[in-house]
Amino acid sequence: MKLDPDLQLKILEMTGIYANRFSIPEPKVLFTPKEVLDMPKEMTEGRRTSAYKYYGVSYMLHNLIFINIKKIPDEKELENTLVHELIHMRFQYLSHGKRFNKLVRQGLRGKQFQQYQKRK
Ligand SMILES: [Zn+2]
Repeated sequence: MKLDPDLQLKILEMTGIYANRFSIPEPKVLFTPKEVLDMPKEMTEGRRTSAYKYYGVSYMLHNLIFINIKKIPDEKELENTLVHELIHMRFQYLSHGKRFNKLVRQGLRGKQFQQYQKRK
C-alpha cells in the first residue's frame, strides 16, 4: 500500500481503538524500515535489519510496533497485521498457533479483552 499521511492517520486511529478494546497502552507505531533503523538499537533488538521482510513486528518490551505499509497489499491485510501485533502486546506469553489465531479473529470481530492480570 502507498504510505501517505491519510493512511498513517487511519492506522493510528485504528491502533487507538484496538488498544482500547484489548486493554493495553497504545503502542508507538513505526511505518517504514527506516524508522525502525532510526530507533535506539536496544528497542528494536532482534528484529531490526530484518524488519523490512515482515508485514509487521512487535517490540513488546518497548511498547512499539512496526507496520510495514509498503509491503502490505490491501486494507484487509493491514487490519489483520495490526490486530496480530496488538494481540502480541496483550498476550505477551502466547506464541503463534491455533489459540493465537483464534484471538486475532476474535479481535478483528470487535471482541474486548480484559487487562492482563498475573495469577495470584
Ligand atoms: Zn506474530
